[in-house]
Order: sequence, then C-alpha cells, then structure tokens
Amino acid sequence: MLKGKSAVITGSTSGIGLGYATALADAGVNVMINGFGDADAIEAERAKLEAKGVKAVYSGADMTKPAEIAAMIAEANDKLGSVDILINNAGIQHVAPIEDFPDEKWNAIIAINLSSAFHTTKHAVPLMKARGWGRIINTASAHALVASPAKSAYVAAKHGIAGLTKVVALEVAEHGITANAICPGYVWTPLAEKQIPDTAKARGITEEEVKRDVLLAAQPTREFVTVEQVAALAMFLCQDAAKSITGAILPMDGGWTAA
Ligand code: NAD
Repeated sequence: MLKGKSAVITGSTSGIGLGYATALADAGVNVMINGFGDADAIEAERAKLEAKGVKAVYSGADMTKPAEIAAMIAEANDKLGSVDILINNAGIQHVAPIEDFPDEKWNAIIAINLSSAFHTTKHAVPLMKARGWGRIINTASAHALVASPAKSAYVAAKHGIAGLTKVVALEVAEHGITANAICPGYVWTPLAEKQIPDTAKARGITEEEVKRDVLLAAQPTREFVTVEQVAALAMFLCQDAAKSITGAILPMDGGWTAA
C-alpha cells in the first residue's frame, strides 16, 4: 500500500535516519534524504536507495535554517511528486552541566532537534491535507520521557518534540494524517559503536563490559536497540492498520522508562 508514496527523512545520511530511508525504499517509497557528511559517501547511499527502484534525491538543507527547510519540502514535492510521509529525525547531542553549557550548543540543539520539526511539519501538512493521507513520525528519545544529568538541551528538545507531536496529531486527526513519536533507548549506530574501544581502554574493562555496564546501565535488557527495529516500528506506523495510533509517544527502550 506504500508503493509510489514519497517520504522526506531529515538527518538521514547515517544511523537511524538512513535506516528509515532504506526500509521505506524497500517498500517502494520514493525518498528524499537529508543531512551532512562526505559528498561521495552521501551520493553512494543515495544511489543504493535508487537501485531499489524508487526515486531517491538528496537535500543538503541545514535544519537550523527555516528558509532552507521550506525549500527542502517544496523540492521534495516537485521532484518526488508528493510528500506523504515526513520523518523528523535530525539530531545532535552535547553533554555538559547547565552552568557550563555553551549558549550556541543550546541554540543548535533546540533548532535541529526541535524547531526543525515545527518548520518541516508546517510546510508538509498542507500537502498531506490536499491528498487526504499522511504520516508524520518524529524520532524523539527515551529522553522525551525521562531526564539524565548534563543533557539540558537534548532533554528539553526531546520533551518538546513529544508535545509538538501531540498538538499536530490533534490538528490533523480528521485529515487521514497521523503524528507519532518513537522514543528509542540507546541505538546501535556508528556513533555509539565508535565510542566503545576508547571507553574500554580508558576504564580498563572489556568492550562487552562497556556496552553492558556503561552505555546500557539504564537499559534493563542490556542490549542496544537496533536501527532496523526503529525503522520497523516506523514502517508499521505507515500502514493503514496503524491509522488509529496518533499522538502516541512510543518507547522502544528495552524497558528503560518502565523503571
Ligand atoms: P547520527 O549522528 O548517525 O545521525 C544524525 C543525522 O542528523 C545525520 O544524518 C546528520 O548529518 C544529521 N544532521 C545533524 N545536524 C544537521 C543539520 N543542522 N541539518 C541537517 N541534518 C543534520 O545519529 P543517530 O543516532 O542516527 O540519531 C538520529 C536521531 O535519533 C536523533 O534525533 C537522535 O536524537 C535520535 N536518537 C538516537 C539515539 C541513539 O542512541 N543513537 C537514541 C534515541 C534517539
């Protein structure tokens, strides 16, 4: 049922976003990927998506810039033919106690992790309303539900996106559009993987112990969530079977927020 639809996925040049794009393209959905990184590597990922038999285009729009975001949604509509699915996923992190938290890091995290979703949604909703169908999926985090020290901006942005998700869900409920937030715990992305050998060396423990006792201390399963699991939940939310799931803040965190 998704074949021929089109999706915009912000922050999809790596990690979870690329996982969404891959799952959508596998289901026959045209995709616009977005994010930063090495130009050749991005082109290689775009070509891999296109090889699945869908249209795949790349936008380098900076999620801190509202005008670039508006242009990205218009470009997706022009080049892909519609914007049926919007996944707000771009995100960054900075860890520091509040008294040392740099103002520019606060502003960047609020802009990328929260405000960009306001701007994309604002421009995508009229396109979805016109077609009477849409899916808006926001990558929030377990940090949309609980806090951790030294993550003031990230936790504020993720709690904020949970609120935004609920408001949008109410506003579009009678238009065949749903809006939901997925709240992953620690996800096995290249970002997480890269930290492990250094942490093991620094603490004099094994890589397995780093995963279990350091990164996954909060996660009762002591296992990373995978990119594929997050993408699979998003794919379910895109189905007609999920049309009554809206305004939901859905944890996928190995039990973290049950504690
Ligand atoms: P990642 O670093 O692999 O991906 C982040 C993406 O955002 C990249 O494509 C990057 O280029 C893009 N990006 C960063 N700044 C941007 C900007 N100004 N404009 C456009 N794109 C920009 O990280 P990830 O782990 O895949 O994270 C993706 C999302 O998942 C984020 O919102 C993150 O908060 C959330 N999340 C991650 C985890 C985890 O453990 N990895 C857990 C919960 C939630």
